[in-house]
Amino acid sequence: MFIEVVGSCGSKDAICRLTCMRLGEKVLIDAGSAAFIPVEQLDTLDVVLLTHAHLDHILDLGFILDSMVSRRTRPLVVMGSEACLSIVRTHYMNGLLWPDFSKINVGGTPILEYKVLADEVWTTLPGEVECMPVPVNHPAGARGFLLRYNGKLVVYTGDTGPTDKLWKTAREQGEPAEVVIEVSFPDSKRSIAMASDHLCPSLAADELNKLGCKDIPVHVFHMKPWFAEEITGELNIPGKPVNLLRSGNRIEFS
Ligand SMILES: [Zn+2]
Ligand SMILES: [Zn+2]
Repeated sequence: MFIEVVGSCGSKDAICRLTCMRLGEKVLIDAGSAAFIPVEQLDTLDVVLLTHAHLDHILDLGFILDSMVSRRTRPLVVMGSEACLSIVRTHYMNGLLWPDFSKINVGGTPILEYKVLADEVWTTLPGEVECMPVPVNHPAGARGFLLRYNGKLVVYTGDTGPTDKLWKTAREQGEPAEVVIEVSFPDSKRSIAMASDHLCPSLAADELNKLGCKDIPVHVFHMKPWFAEEITGELNIPGKPVNLLRSGNRIEFS
């Protein structure tokens, strides 16, 4: 199993793409920059797993569905918390801002289905990877995910400010093999990070200490592009090897 980065940023400019990760061949975590995915990879997708409904995580969902209508005969299932899916249905694909693809039938079935995922319960996704959503400290129905495949556990924070439940739940499930954590702002903007329910490097270090495990590979995503240089310079978290995720990077965990 793998996580492959399509886009790793919490906003966009000419270089940085919005958050979107392939989880194996059949699942996408968030869809901010999903329109960059080649057609042959889009066609193997069965599920889009949304961390939450902020625009940087859902923007391209409408565009990949638009491209799928003419060639797909099975639904794309969009999963997330009830609050997240409600926002997407009501404010994005509502037949006004963009088509309601859940009402567009192809071969007798809708091209889009929504499925609410229960919190703190393991759900098996296509590709035999398991996912457990855990509420985190961020708006728009945000959840972090524990991912499990072949006994390997991965913690994926999604967007969050300082939080406790995700790390506590992860500890209960065993020692993670990898951690993917958001860092949106540099330490000089710590107050903005706190006010917007995000992390900066020093806050991320505090979060990783809550996990209580040493020497786990740490992968960082969701930086605001205009702080890239400053954040990169600050990401020397003592005792923790840190990898700043970029488009095309791949994390193997099988
Ligand atoms: Zn975001
Ligand atoms: Zn967000």
